This record gives sequence, C-alpha cells and structure tokens, in this order.
Amino acid sequence: MHSDELLLRALNFEFLSAEEGLYLFEKAATTDLMTVAHQLRMIQKPEKAVTWIIDRNANTTNVCIANCKFCNFFRKPGHEESYVTTVEEYKQKIEETFRYGGDQLLLQGGHHPDLGLSFYVNLFKKLKSLYPTLKLHSL
Ligand code: SF4
Repeated sequence: MHSDELLLRALNFEFLSAEEGLYLFEKAATTDLMTVAHQLRMIQKPEKAVTWIIDRNANTTNVCIANCKFCNFFRKPGHEESYVTTVEEYKQKIEETFRYGGDQLLLQGGHHPDLGLSFYVNLFKKLKSLYPTLKLHSL
C-alpha cells in the first residue's frame, strides 16, 4: 500500500476500504489529503459553492452513567457539579446565537438515567414553539 496510489484511486472516485482509509489517516501528509479533497470537491461542485452555518453547541446535561474512560465532562448522578440545562438557559444561548447570525442549536449531553424520551420530546417541542425558525441539530 502506498499513499500516492490510494490518493490517485480516490481522485478517480474509486471506493477505498476501511484499511486503506486508515492507512491514509496514519501515513498521508495532511497537505496531500487537503489537495485531493479540494480537487474532488471542485469536480463534484464545479460552481465552487461552499456553504456553512453558524450554530451553537449546548449540553443538555452533564449527568451520565456511561463512564467512558476518556471523558472528563460527565458527572455521576447526584454529584454536586451535575446539572440539567433549563429552558431559561437555552433561551439565553439561543438568543445569543441569533444575535451572532446563527440559526442552529446542536444539543448533546450525557446519558442521564432519569431523562427519558418524553423529556427530550417535550424539550424539543418547547424550543421549537419558542423559536420556530431555530434549527435543532439534536442528539
Ligand atoms: S458524556 Fe458522553 S463521552 Fe462522557 S461518559 Fe457520557 S457518553 Fe461517554
């Protein structure tokens, strides 16, 4: 396997295997990956359109029972630093986002054992009723 050969295949729109992708991830120069990605984009989007949005990430809760070893974000249920974000706090974050020209809220958070599907359904309904134009990019 060689990076140049794999990058050439990618430029010819050939699918690479997961192993080949991993090889490029570990071995290819970032500038080579950027160049190939740019060329592929120019082929697929010759009008050169690049789109973007302004959004904000907000955490629903830092309470989590998944215990991922790498995670320094979560707190166990009952911990003094645990929180569940309130609607008032979302309103502040959303209105700040709008002021900066943003229109999307990304919601993510821990696996809180007491927050089931209805909690999230009701939260999303509430936020959409308060801000109908807000895009929710959630969970
Ligand atoms: S918050 Fe996410 S990353 Fe952290 S322990 Fe929970 S599931 Fe894992």
